[in-house]
Amino acid sequence: MSPGRKGAGAQGRREETGDGGRETHLPPFGHPDPPANPLRALPVEFVGSFPDPLVRLDPALPEVALIGRSNVGKSSLLNALMGRPGLARVSGTPGKTTLLNAFRLPSLYLIDLPGYGFARAGKAARAGYRQLITRYLGERSTLAGVVWLLDVRHPPSRDDFEIQELLIASGRPVLAVLTKADKLTRSARAIRTRELAADLGLHDDQVQLTSSSSGQGIAELGQSILAIGERP
Ligand code: GDP
Repeated sequence: MSPGRKGAGAQGRREETGDGGRETHLPPFGHPDPPANPLRALPVEFVGSFPDPLVRLDPALPEVALIGRSNVGKSSLLNALMGRPGLARVSGTPGKTTLLNAFRLPSLYLIDLPGYGFARAGKAARAGYRQLITRYLGERSTLAGVVWLLDVRHPPSRDDFEIQELLIASGRPVLAVLTKADKLTRSARAIRTRELAADLGLHDDQVQLTSSSSGQGIAELGQSILAIGERP
């Protein structure tokens, strides 16, 4: 750069900053834009709550189901994903509901399956739940994939392993979403993610670490959900 141009540039900067002094900050190199959550930009509508796992939704669209233990953070994740706090109820009474909640996006439904593993459930309630999920996973022709939520802090419970068996038997594509990442340090997160993946026989690209509080991993999850819903 010629001395003349350099002088003009420095002059220009002085005018911008207005401090009359020398520029003290190095120009930033620039970061790639963080990934955007595509679901936030889309209209979403609560369709209803249904007891029948084979309920027909109109229009018929591909659907992505979310399943996880009560209190795993499913409602919080749905609200963070859709960018509408309060759309999915953040549960005060864990596991009380046995209904499927359906949310309509333009090209797919998100199906919020009831949470499992609530401590006070009796034998009959457990059997009923198992039957509901077995039928839903096994027989639902519009089901494109399942998002399985696991709390990153805890080893899989007996109930998680039972659901794993049902998921394997159904042959459905599964994305394991680890919730509440903000509750661990960065190094603990990495260790727990590896341990959970090993415990459950998951591949690296099948695991997504998330936090509804910090927003970590939410955009990536939104992209994965749209992608699987649009798969032919
Ligand atoms: P659900 O029963 O699976 O629907 O779980 P909720 O969404 O109701 O969450 C259960 C509890 O965990 C609530 O107290 C939430 O505020 C809390 N929670 C959910 N997600 C997160 C998260 O990402 N980070 C933290 N720190 N807390 C969370």
